[in-house]
Amino acid sequence: SESSEKYEFQAEVTRLMDIVINSLYKNKEIFLRELISNASDALDKARFKGIKEKNFLDTKKELEVRISYDKEARTLTIADSGVGMTKTELVENLGTVAKSGTTNFMENLGGEGDADLSMIGQFGVGFYSIYLVSEKVTVASKSNDDETQNVWSSQADGSFVVAPDPRGNTLGRGTEITMYLKDDASEYLDDYKIESLVKRYSEFITFPIYLRKTIEEVVAADEDEEDEYEYEDGEEEDLDEDEEEEEEEEEEEEEEEEGEESKKDTRVKGEAVDKSKVPDDHNPDPESPHDPTIKREIKKFEWVRANDNVAIWARDKEDVTSDEYKEFYRNLAKDGTTSNNWIHFKAEGEVEFKGILYIPDEAPHDMYDKFYEKDAKIRLYVRKVLITDDFDELVPQYLNFLRGVIDSDDLPLNVNREGLQQSKVLKVMGKKLVRKAIEMVRKLANADADWEPDEDDKDEKGTVKKSPYMRFWDQFGKSLKLGVIEDSANRSKLTKLLRYKTSKSGEEGWRSLEEYVADMKEWQTNIYYIAGESMEALESSPFLEKLKKKGLEVLYLIDPIDEYAMQQIMEFDGKRMMSVTKEGLKFGDEDEDLVAAREKAYKAKFLPLTTYLKDAYGTKISKVVVSSRVETSPVVIVTGQWGNSANMERIMRAQAL
Ligand code: ADP
Ligand code: MG
Repeated sequence: SESSEKYEFQAEVTRLMDIVINSLYKNKEIFLRELISNASDALDKARFKGIKEKNFLDTKKELEVRISYDKEARTLTIADSGVGMTKTELVENLGTVAKSGTTNFMENLGGEGDADLSMIGQFGVGFYSIYLVSEKVTVASKSNDDETQNVWSSQADGSFVVAPDPRGNTLGRGTEITMYLKDDASEYLDDYKIESLVKRYSEFITFPIYLRKTIEEVVAADEDEEDEYEYEDGEEEDLDEDEEEEEEEEEEEEEEEEGEESKKDTRVKGEAVDKSKVPDDHNPDPESPHDPTIKREIKKFEWVRANDNVAIWARDKEDVTSDEYKEFYRNLAKDGTTSNNWIHFKAEGEVEFKGILYIPDEAPHDMYDKFYEKDAKIRLYVRKVLITDDFDELVPQYLNFLRGVIDSDDLPLNVNREGLQQSKVLKVMGKKLVRKAIEMVRKLANADADWEPDEDDKDEKGTVKKSPYMRFWDQFGKSLKLGVIEDSANRSKLTKLLRYKTSKSGEEGWRSLEEYVADMKEWQTNIYYIAGESMEALESSPFLEKLKKKGLEVLYLIDPIDEYAMQQIMEFDGKRMMSVTKEGLKFGDEDEDLVAAREKAYKAKFLPLTTYLKDAYGTKISKVVVSSRVETSPVVIVTGQWGNSANMERIMRAQAL
């Protein structure tokens, strides 16, 4: 038509669409996840605007998603009453404005035919997954900011068209996406298939998702053709009264949207039966939807809600299955990661809120680069309205690996970001969240004692993986150390969660401070540690000679951050943390008088040597003393009690570069 305009897709987008439409990728159903996720985003925005702008929602009051299909036309339609798109937004969002993710995504795919396309959503180009199953797509959209309802359409041939919708404004507000399915995508023209997919992908969606289901009735077994006639008159006398009432109500609601479709309601479904293929002794089975001798008639359509009424975090935890939690995490994280650790809680008292926090199974590979620029991804809802999905002030930086959702009734709905930051309520919430997070980690750590590996804990070769807490420690141990440094209020709780290599841990093992203390010598009063580059280097250190002889355990601080953390810990369970490389080292089993007498004698005896050495080294050292700390080495260089250790100086030099 005259007012339709043709646009070229941005070049990278064309390439992406080519890849998607020709892909042999098996898991094509992810397109539905992407579309539901986009609908949900648009509805979140509408709900949020509805709070700020009076009358915003008047253009369409219900916030919802409706999914339907038409078997004859081979179309699948998903409509939402979200914010919709203006004409300009249709042109920009769906094709002309490049997203940085487009190229990244294609690089990530690496050009292989069966590459993992399910990552598409993470790169901000999820919409185009629609071409996994569609040969043509139309997107009708109505925004409050555009008088006209427009239609975008494309067959993925490098261009798209945008025109005013010839039907006029049918949506009120929102977006209606119609997919013309490819020949090999017929499976989506099926109630059961759609329903199970929607259930899987909509766990975190707080808006109702309705499916238009077909209500079919058995017309007749093939042999009995008379019956069929009666029904084709459109009589529905066998419906009971209740059903009839229900039906009337529904039809009223649907009238506008479905004017045309309702005419098709009395088609007879199924193809002509080739009787030669049906065995003679076949008993028609009206219960079986697949019996070819049974003729069915589509009596009517019915909108059925497919997702739960209650958001997962608002449900009782006893009623939520592990699989539901895991799937919710996948929907929430949207980055292909999984989680097996979560805490679902209801905080009461000063501020009330519900929430679920998750620890991902794996840290992103760049987790500790630019650590302080990364934020925990916690979605904040106020009375089910999504306020923000990456609120960074909620928990301290060291907990930035957390994912989750919290919902509170105690915040005003019309808070803005700035208001939130100042809100006292939020500070209280933050504190409670930190406590919950630490509790979750503590439970994970405590469970390790009783851990028995099962089949899930073995890899393909049958080797047993590390215990759950050790897997966590591998991924996020550094975060806890940062916590010890940063969070003085929770320092002692966090310190208990630390693990160390020690002179007793062995190559593979890790020890907690509690274990260290439990195994201490009766007369031992300090916890000993030594910092250095590697376990190997430390094992052979002359500083350990005496301690080994006495059977004392020594913590090996081999991560640069360990020593910073140790400076904050100072003591544990009443025992002082003591570096074995600093002066004044005591073990607690000495006979003080005897030691003093001996020291005095040796001091006198070696005075010429110590004087000579002090002269020789001059200001490079502060003093030379006779010491009893080494067993076989003639000399060690130690640091003053208040100075930096040699290891710390090494680290500081490295950081200064
Ligand atoms: P992303 O969702 O990561 O932004 P997509 O490729 O899925 O990337 O979607 C591209 C953009 O198209 C969205 O950011 C949004 O602006 C727009 N869009 C897609 N679907 C809808 C919808 N149902 N309602 C409103 N806008 C939409
Ligand atoms: Mg998307």
